[in-house]
Amino acid sequence: KGYLTTGLLLKETSMELKIDKFDFSVVSKGSGGVVVKNLYLSCDPYMRGRMRDFQGSYIPPFVPGSVIEGFGVSKVVNSDSPNFKIGDLVTGITGWEEYSLIKKPEQLRKIETDDIPLSYYVGLLGMPGFTAYAGFYEVCSPKKGEFVFVSAASGAVGQLVGQLAKLHGCYVVGSAGTSEKIDLLKNKLGFDEAFNYKEEPNLDEALKRYFPQGIDIYFDNVGGMMLDAALVNMRVHGRIAVCGMVSLQSLSYTDGIQNLYMLILKRITMTGFLQSDFLHLHPQFLEFIISNYKQGKIVYIEDMNEGLENAPAAFVGLFTGKNVGKQVICVARD
Ligand code: NDP
Repeated sequence: KGYLTTGLLLKETSMELKIDKFDFSVVSKGSGGVVVKNLYLSCDPYMRGRMRDFQGSYIPPFVPGSVIEGFGVSKVVNSDSPNFKIGDLVTGITGWEEYSLIKKPEQLRKIETDDIPLSYYVGLLGMPGFTAYAGFYEVCSPKKGEFVFVSAASGAVGQLVGQLAKLHGCYVVGSAGTSEKIDLLKNKLGFDEAFNYKEEPNLDEALKRYFPQGIDIYFDNVGGMMLDAALVNMRVHGRIAVCGMVSLQSLSYTDGIQNLYMLILKRITMTGFLQSDFLHLHPQFLEFIISNYKQGKIVYIEDMNEGLENAPAAFVGLFTGKNVGKQVICVARD
């Protein structure tokens, strides 16, 4: 009944591989829990925030010495829950380990298998996809023909924001950090234009070049200097959806923003949001994205790394732009 299983523990400044014995009988009768085999794990920038104790955060910090947790796609291998049976495929919060005991399975969602890749349930059909959907439609108040700018545009969230904006009839420009990503944005993801911000000596001038008439909607995934440059280039009554500030994740929270007065001059609405504020929209999100994906109107790019032991490097790579598309770790295929 005991299986050898590996997991990743968070230490003070690193992650450590642990090898342990996993006893499936931990799901005792009456506990209501399930044991899952983890297939795909999601690397998400917000997890960096959980590696420090940040007062006022919407989510508690990780506990050093515990297994890292995050979104995943898993298979139920033992169950004491009436809602899940052995063999069910599920998605929700799980551990960065081969097998996990989920004590509160009500946070898991069953996946109805069809011809959509399972790993998409942590990307296109998972939290990042939902962030793009809720952020674009609910926070940006988009109108056909508007000028939309997306930063970190080839990433898990950004690539879908751009495609939704195109489906909505907007003009869309994305920024990203390598020529490979720029090529994908223009030739695979359907952006009208894209530029490599790392090759631009002056971000303000770059935005003026791509948006001579100004920006109606800025979907901000990075914060910092790009946000400052975008502020200057917003149109009157423009909207900024503050989705994330990945450029500030690693060091401090001071970003030196200079141009906030543009909020007044241009009567800009700048809104921070969390995808979890919009969960009531989740069913319509799934229906909309699955339908458009099946019709070939939406594509999705993943960066799949094989093996749990490669998860820490893949995670760190999010903060240097190593990932091309949604960063996923494949722990097992079934
Ligand atoms: P991505 O897949 O976009 O990966 C992160 C990307 O950020 C990297 O690939 C890199 O791309 C870019 N990046 C890294 N460091 C910097 C930097 N210093 N300056 C500029 N760009 C940088 O991640 P996600 O799509 O999962 O997340 C995108 C943003 O959305 C994050 O800020 C995240 O925290 C936020 N988010 C917010 C949610 C919410 O509810 N508000 C929910 C989910 C995500 P590049 O090559 O372009 O530099």
